[in-house]
Amino acid sequence: MVSYKTLGLVNTKEMFAKAVAGGYAIPAFNFNNMEQLQAIIQAASETKSPVILQVSKGARNYANQTLLRYMAEGAVEYAKELGWENPQIVLHLDHGDSFEICKSCVDMGFSSVMIDASHLSYEENVALTKKVVDYAHQYDVTVEAELGVLAGVEDEVQAEESHYTRPEEVIDFATRTGCDSLAISIGTSHGAYKFKPEQCTRDEKTGRLVPPPLAFDILHEIEAKLPGFPIVLHGSSSVPQEYVDSINANGGKLPDAVGIPEEQLREASKSAVCKINIDSDSRLAMTAAIRKVFVEKPGEFDPRKYCGPARDEMKKLYTHKIVNVLGSDGKAE
Ligand SMILES: [Zn+2]
Repeated sequence: MVSYKTLGLVNTKEMFAKAVAGGYAIPAFNFNNMEQLQAIIQAASETKSPVILQVSKGARNYANQTLLRYMAEGAVEYAKELGWENPQIVLHLDHGDSFEICKSCVDMGFSSVMIDASHLSYEENVALTKKVVDYAHQYDVTVEAELGVLAGVEDEVQAEESHYTRPEEVIDFATRTGCDSLAISIGTSHGAYKFKPEQCTRDEKTGRLVPPPLAFDILHEIEAKLPGFPIVLHGSSSVPQEYVDSINANGGKLPDAVGIPEEQLREASKSAVCKINIDSDSRLAMTAAIRKVFVEKPGEFDPRKYCGPARDEMKKLYTHKIVNVLGSDGKAE
């Protein structure tokens, strides 16, 4: 049993309370490799933004859960080296799908876990979430739960159809489970293809897809039922079109990739939404940068010469999200 506290990590409790009160949101960035982690920590350190490092099932399979935990521990020390005296870094399990996986993360030093039982029946979701909460809270580890189903594909999480969170369920769910935050479904979606063309309209001038707006009415109804309770948005990449264009111009093939407009996320950040998950955008930044090097310098074969530019591009993206979309800069001085 390793406590996250000895690793210099923090749980989400205090940072969420401040974010809800302050009208901003904490970035939750997924990481799978060193360059991505460096970029996240550089961006968070320079902007003094609290940050959540997320580990998905795909990341655990790709990079190994133990290694990722040690990397997060290293990230705390790296942040201090970069001059961030009091780093506010959470190590969070993204989409835990069983009690056992949540327990193993709590036991190895994660400071926060998500139990995603949203695909089960309501009563089964309550029971499994409560079981995880009862275990995690013994060690002061915070728990995110989910109500409602997001469409899209994220690593091994996928659903064909979404259904919005039902506001009439949230009080009962939060009370009976004791969860610390709640992921809701209001029209965000996993992956870089969040919407089918038939769900969107098309901008006459640019020919680009324009996605349907988020269901702010449902968000506001949930906020009214659970005042001040931390709300989480998954699947909130914006799929920047300059990356899509750059990827396509350099031999890639991402037709009609579309995300959530940043203005809508900025709007959501001002509400009880206090954690916004961003994964696909950093994949796009990395891929765009690497493809560019491969096309412009076909003789290059030193991975540092293409992973380095990819890291720089991801750092730019993370900084932009922190400062211009979530408003979390300067909140962890
Ligand atoms: Zn998710």
